Parts: sequence; structure tokens; C-alpha cells
Amino acid sequence: MSKLKILHLSTECYPAAKTGGLGDVVGALPKYQNRAGHKADVIIPKYGIPWIKASEHKNIFEGTISLGMESHYFSIDRYQGDSEFDLLFANIPSLFDRNGIYADQNGFFGDEFKRWIAFIKSVLKWLITAEIQYDILHCHDHHTGLIPFFIRYCPEYEKLKQIPTVFTIHNGKYQGINSWKEFHYLPYFPGEFGGLIEWNDHINLMSAGIRNCWSLTTVSNSYLNELKYDSDGLEWLFINESAKSVGILNGIDTKQWDPTTDGLITNVLKKSISQFKKNNRNALLDQIHSKNEAPIVAFIGRLVYEKGIDFLIDLLQNYLTYYPGSLHFVILGTGDQLFESSLYFLHKRFPEDITLILKYDESLAHQMYAGSDFLIMPSRVEPCGLNQFYALRYGTIPIVRRIGGLADSITDIGDPGGNGICFDNLSIHDGMHALNRVLPLYQNKKEFNLLRKNIMLEDNSWDASSEKYAAIYQSLIA
Ligand code: ADP
Repeated sequence: MSKLKILHLSTECYPAAKTGGLGDVVGALPKYQNRAGHKADVIIPKYGIPWIKASEHKNIFEGTISLGMESHYFSIDRYQGDSEFDLLFANIPSLFDRNGIYADQNGFFGDEFKRWIAFIKSVLKWLITAEIQYDILHCHDHHTGLIPFFIRYCPEYEKLKQIPTVFTIHNGKYQGINSWKEFHYLPYFPGEFGGLIEWNDHINLMSAGIRNCWSLTTVSNSYLNELKYDSDGLEWLFINESAKSVGILNGIDTKQWDPTTDGLITNVLKKSISQFKKNNRNALLDQIHSKNEAPIVAFIGRLVYEKGIDFLIDLLQNYLTYYPGSLHFVILGTGDQLFESSLYFLHKRFPEDITLILKYDESLAHQMYAGSDFLIMPSRVEPCGLNQFYALRYGTIPIVRRIGGLADSITDIGDPGGNGICFDNLSIHDGMHALNRVLPLYQNKKEFNLLRKNIMLEDNSWDASSEKYAAIYQSLIA
């Protein structure tokens, strides 16, 4: 296999900028690609957020881009700190020097379309003259969905036309739907190609990526199939583009998520798994000021409809009404205000049984994976999900709804090779049944400890999946 030069284009990359799984993936996959001998770099917009503000960069390119009647200065900056891959920033201060990725304390920014076009235009302008010539442009999610179209059909980017593009969908819910009134932000292309970025009379960034990329991937196989039945109007497109589509399950960065070295947890794993779990459990209880001795069932994530938060609220209300005091639910997340306040009132009703932390806290998340007994993911939609992998790695048993990547990674403990508790329907009946299996499992110490040991031994690293991406790249170049 030849060694490749790959550029990942994304709006998130851990540790610089992360709101969820996209950041984790883009911060991890390139490391594994570099370890395999490729040269994988990442470019994201330069936001005015603390991590980026506090880091050092070297300016490697400067220019201007036009957006309709406006002209914007930009530069391409290279991160100077320690990193296993080259991390580049598209610095467009007029549009990105804000304290947030998509939103700040005042809410969503509202000029996303203009910002993503500016990001793409500045990166492509740099690439035209850049010393490095990439073999592959790997575009992530709808924000970068116009890249495959631009380099194919806009004369301005003619020089890049031959570079194969891979478009990966991490979350199909956000399509980037915009009115044709914003057409003036786009670079020139012959009018007859306009249909290739349009869906339902709108410019649709997701559909543009799907149609124009050379290869389409989603972050699990089940999710790819689900999109053909339910993708908010794009179903036909997914069916039509099946021949160039493949689902590749995400992996995790096992160096960053390593229970034997993790600097964000209070007690690293030495010899005994039981001791590791016990010490971290106590540390977690201290951190959240709780004396509850019941098994801990954690939830970590965005408090949104897709994650099944409405269902979780109903389920906990039912469960705790019947069985107060038997399980301790620890919830960490931020999201829709309605869900935040419903959870708050539920916590008020069951203050001992529910600990609620309404914030984004990377360190606490690590401590929760290490110190909890179970992790619940009652997702309505789950393209891949990473939390279940982190839970497994830290000896926390996942309780998942069998959907998307959860179906592809978690097998019920009643089946051979089982590594979690699974349920199929978002019904109180199914949810109660799943929760009713928790205590008996927890109390059967022999079975429980063996399960913990087995799940911690699983290899869910990027090793296997990064090879699958490499095989796609090679096939495109061939
Ligand atoms: P998403 O749909 O949000 O991308 P994933 O399961 O793919 O879901 O990834 C979620 C990532 O975000 C995990 O690393 C998880 O630990 C992290 N995360 C989500 N919410 C929070 C939070 N409130 N605090 C800390 N980490 C969080």
C-alpha cells in the first residue's frame, strides 16, 4: 500500500474544538493514520475559544476571499504545540473570532452558511498554491459538504479537480438547508450544475456532499441502512448513492482513553479492576457531593430529542416511582432548555436518586466513565455513538437501545459475547425491563466482575477502522 497525504476538513477536532463525537473522531483517526505511515493533517476554523486562544500558531499563508460584495482577510495557521498530526487553522477573524463553535452564551450564531462557505473558500484558495499536494480530501459532515462540488464544477478550483473526496456523515440530522437567496456567497459555477447542490428547492449542504463526493461513508453500517428509510427527506438520495456508500464503525483513541494512565480520573487502573472501580466510584460521589450507595447509572451527552431524553425523563419518573432508592442516576449534559428544565424538576422530585449536572465538563465525563457501574444510552438515533466504547474501556456496562452504531457495537449479555444490556423499543415497558435487569446483575458479584473484566479487554481502537478508510482511499486513487 502506498503512503498517502490526507487532509481532514472539519469544524471540530479534539482537543482544540469539540462539542461531541465529530471532535473525538477527527482528533483520533489522523493519529492512527499517521502511525500507519500516512501523512494525515487536519484543518478546522480558528475559533476564538479558550484552547485555541491559549495555543501558539505559525502563519503559513495569507489571502482574501470574497463573499458576495464583501471581502474578508484570512490566513492559514499551523498549531505549534505537541500533536501527533499537523493541526491547521483557517483564520478568518471577521467570522470566527467568537467564543464558541456554533453558538455562544447568547445562542446560535445564525450565519452558519456564510461561515462554512468562508471556511471552505479559504482552505481551497490555500490548497491551490500550497506546497503540499494532498492525495485525498476527507470532508466531515454537512459543513464541508460543498467541497466535492466546488472542486468539480467551479473553474476557480480547477487545479484541485482530480483530488478524490471522501464525505463522512457523523450526524445526518443536521443537513445545512439554506435559501437560494444566499447564493451570492458561492463561487461561480456554470448554472446548469446548480441542481447538484439543491434538494427540495433549497441549497442543501448534506445532499451536495452525498451527490458530489467520490466516496460516501457513515459511521456505522446500521446507520447507513437506517438513513435509507428515515433521513428527513434524503432517503431516495441515500438509496440512489448506495454503490459508493459504506458504513465504517468509529473507534476510540485508546491512548487518550486509557484507564491505566488517564490524567483526568482520580485513580488509574493498577492491578485490581474492583479496586479501580471502587476508588473511582468514591471519588465521583465526592465530586458530585452524594452519599448514595446504590449502583450508579450514568448518562453523558447532549440533552436533545435524538438522544431520547424525553424518553429517559419518562422512564426515570416511572422507575423511581416504583423503586425509589434502588439506582442512582447521574446525568451530565447540556442541550434543549425544555429537557434541561424537565430534568431539573425530576431531580427536585427525586433529589437523592438523580444527580444532575447541566454543563459540559470533559474531566467529569472521564470520572463518570471510570466511577459509574452502568451507562444508559436510550438514543432515538445514534449514528455510531462513542460513549459506549469509553464505558466499555473503563469497565462500565452499557445499557443501550439497539439502534445505529449501538446495534453494531453492543450485544446483549443474554447472547454469546454479550457486553451490555440491550432493548429495542423506546417504550416504558422495554425501558423498565432493561432497568430491572440492572440490580440482579450488580448483585451477582461473580458474573458482574467477570463481565467488567471482559469488556475492559475489548479492542475498540481505531486500528481496524482506520485500515478500512485507507482501503477506500487506495481504491479511489487507483
Ligand atoms: P454526539 O452525537 O454528541 O456526537 P457521541 O456519542 O458520538 O455523541 O459523542 C459524544 C462525546 O461528547 C463523548 O466524548 C462524550 O463523552 C462527550 N460529551 C457529550 N456531552 C458532554 C458533557 N456534557 N460533558 C462532557 N463530555 C460530553
